[in-house]
Amino acid sequence: MVDEAQIRSQFPILDQEVHGHPLVYLDSAATAQKPLCVVDAERDFYLHDNAGVHRGAHELAARSTLAFEESRAKVAKLVGAESQDGGEEIVITAGATAALNLLATAFGNATQGRGGKAAQRFALHPGDEIVTSKAEHHSVLLPFQELAYRTSAVLKTFDLDDQGRIMADTADEVITERTKVVAVTHVSNVTGAVTDIAPIVRRAHQVGALVILDICQSVPHLPVDLHGLGVDFAVWSSHKMYGPTGVGFLYGRRELLEALPPASFGGSMVELAYTDRPARYMNPPARFEAGTQPVAQVIGAGVAADWLRAIGMDRIASHEAAITKGLLRLGQLEGVRILGPTSAENRIGTVSFDVKGVHPHDVGQFIDSRGIAIRVGHHCAQPVHRHFGVYASNRASTGVYNTMADTDALLEAVSGVRSFFK
Ligand code: PLP
Repeated sequence: MVDEAQIRSQFPILDQEVHGHPLVYLDSAATAQKPLCVVDAERDFYLHDNAGVHRGAHELAARSTLAFEESRAKVAKLVGAESQDGGEEIVITAGATAALNLLATAFGNATQGRGGKAAQRFALHPGDEIVTSKAEHHSVLLPFQELAYRTSAVLKTFDLDDQGRIMADTADEVITERTKVVAVTHVSNVTGAVTDIAPIVRRAHQVGALVILDICQSVPHLPVDLHGLGVDFAVWSSHKMYGPTGVGFLYGRRELLEALPPASFGGSMVELAYTDRPARYMNPPARFEAGTQPVAQVIGAGVAADWLRAIGMDRIASHEAAITKGLLRLGQLEGVRILGPTSAENRIGTVSFDVKGVHPHDVGQFIDSRGIAIRVGHHCAQPVHRHFGVYASNRASTGVYNTMADTDALLEAVSGVRSFFK
């Protein structure tokens, strides 16, 4: 188990009162709080090393470049994507959303013939299928829905079971010989359910389709081994894994990144640029990193990755599993329905719930008046809410700093909601 007091001492933000109550932060699925080492790393960078990365001929540029590239390798290590030079399969992006748009745009560019013959493996033709699921965050759904429109491909979705889990056991029917791309979430940001990804990867590869995994909600909570999972691409955000905002990551198998055409264009991604003939772009990952990079934030993300590994993802997972059990007691309150798995197996501590007869915004405000931060709304995932027959929900979500006392406070607050709004 983790040392709760020691962990919490690294998050000064948690040590405050809100509306006269000790702050209980249960909104880590939206964004995690940052440990001191991450905050210090960004500050130290600006105090001592700040410079643009790559190609600089001076000492500060060399130091910044080294720290930037080391961070890429640290992040790769966290997700089981180590390669010989550390991070060559990791592309820095502005976030998971940006990484998904990068992929969808690059596939669209390949469809238009960009990237030559090698890129044809990403091209989509009328009638080809893109498979996703009803559990997806809009950041997965919408870029690939747009790609389907652009290419006249067909967008198909995995259905969900009554607990909101992606029905991976239907992979053999949903994924067909026409399927080119499968984009699904590893863990839902609404139900907290972990997807059984193995049958999906097996079937996709059987028909030659590429698998894109959204690991935004698994990386901060569970051990993730991308090479072991065998996916082709993965995306996630630094800010949900205790790192800074403004940074995300795209993992791609090396041979795929080498064949993928770029999606955005500008400085730092081109080897040769002319006015009268096409440019020659750099090798990955630089080919996908046009423009000035958020260096301080990337360094912070590297520190966050090392911090998580130092605690140990197994220990984090078992600590949060205990807290999840505490949260799931919500389902025993009268009029409260959990949207997602009701047992703690194969899930993380992201627990969405409906309070009968009370709008989530009212629930959220009532809870906030007790100093407790939860999220309300559709959490950028409307189809999964439709699956449960609601438009919006309340969502409590754990981080490594949460305690059983936090879940007690939430339970007590939620148990007072219905009588207050009667
Ligand atoms: N996918 C999932 C499952 C998420 O929870 C989120 C963020 O809420 C995203 C994608 C998008 O991440 P970002 O907004 O950091 O780009």
